[in-house]
Amino acid sequence: MPDHANNQHCLTGGGKPVHGPSPRRRSRQALVSWGSKTVALGGGAPVVVQSMTNTDTADAIATAIQVKELAQAGSEIVRITVNSPEAAREVAAIRNQLDRMNIDVPLVGDFHFNGHKLLADYPDCAQALSKYRINPGNVGRGKKGDENFARMIEVALKNHKPVRIGVNWGSLDQELLARLMDENARRAEPWEAQRVMHEALVTSAIENAQEAERLGMPGNMICLSAKVSGVQDLITVYRQLAQRCDYPLHLGLTEAGMGSKGIVASTAALAVLLQEGIGDTIRVSLTPEPGGDRAKEVIVAQEILQTMGLRAFTPLVVACPGCGRTTSTFFQELADKIQRYLREQMPQWRNRYPGVETMSVAVMGCVVNGPGESKHANIGISLPGTGEEPTAPVFVDGQRTVTLKGERIAEDFQLIVENYVSTHYSIKH
Ligand code: SF4
Repeated sequence: MPDHANNQHCLTGGGKPVHGPSPRRRSRQALVSWGSKTVALGGGAPVVVQSMTNTDTADAIATAIQVKELAQAGSEIVRITVNSPEAAREVAAIRNQLDRMNIDVPLVGDFHFNGHKLLADYPDCAQALSKYRINPGNVGRGKKGDENFARMIEVALKNHKPVRIGVNWGSLDQELLARLMDENARRAEPWEAQRVMHEALVTSAIENAQEAERLGMPGNMICLSAKVSGVQDLITVYRQLAQRCDYPLHLGLTEAGMGSKGIVASTAALAVLLQEGIGDTIRVSLTPEPGGDRAKEVIVAQEILQTMGLRAFTPLVVACPGCGRTTSTFFQELADKIQRYLREQMPQWRNRYPGVETMSVAVMGCVVNGPGESKHANIGISLPGTGEEPTAPVFVDGQRTVTLKGERIAEDFQLIVENYVSTHYSIKH
């Protein structure tokens, strides 16, 4: 029987416990709330998946619809750009629209350049957001920048909202960088420019967080990020951040790119850090393909966490890659159909069948590894390969049960999965 008691336990693709990643070590925990929904960042809480819209926030309907789609795909926090008076004016309307649709996902406002003004001029916007992202490199220069930063912290305190101090190497505080370059020039053995840049990112994040605390913001209302677009740079920077402070860390590779490159680069960087216990919330910054689905970044983030055994979101389909022994595209179609079916069911299944997200389903192309892999999954099917008898043995909890054949193998297998879910994961009264 599956373990229903703890759906955060470590799993492999086949659902078996593994020697997992290091525990998260941030002792501080920031809470991001809306209504009765509270999402915890850090303090040993499960790693949170977040995403960002790419609609014009001034278009409240389009933005509310995309937030809904991201939330339904599993995004636990959604960030929206607040870049203009027109956008700030619509934030409360977006929040209201989401509330009417029973979408309680917390919204984060992404502010650059004019955030101090927008938050002050649009109190409804400041109130409707659950967290403010402040980029210290984009608040202004010198004394003016300090004042703008202080004004944003003041609004956050007044509204009891946490903040993310979000540094990005594309908009690094140039005064700080110049200061560190000068210090570096005075070293007996100067560092390489890349090391100075890493130091500037980490210093900017930590010094601004300390300044926020000096202005009265409690340390447990601050989380940090320091995003770069290079995998090795990100790993270096976050290792340093994790060593040098105790704020919850928002982790993500910025400008990861499109398609498989974006997915691979994000996964490579995030996996190394998550394995070391670094990262309390993640965002995968994928550039959508033209006409592509924005929710893909949510699915990729979930899959990174689930395949690493950090969290479980949706039943996993274990499928072999297929080879010359695979008879037809039927095998790929079945794996794809089952994967989509399971994901589509999750919005209803999540509450109705607790623990179902830990289930694994194997769809295998022939008898070489099919029966063996199927036995390790909750349910498995081994399709006939070239020259094999046209039958498909099904395994349930390691035992061979029925053998499917004929035109309706896909439909019959789906019924077996449905039946397994309703009999194994229903809430017992
Ligand atoms: S299980 Fe069979 S079809 Fe699938 S990759 Fe292995 S040999 Fe090929």
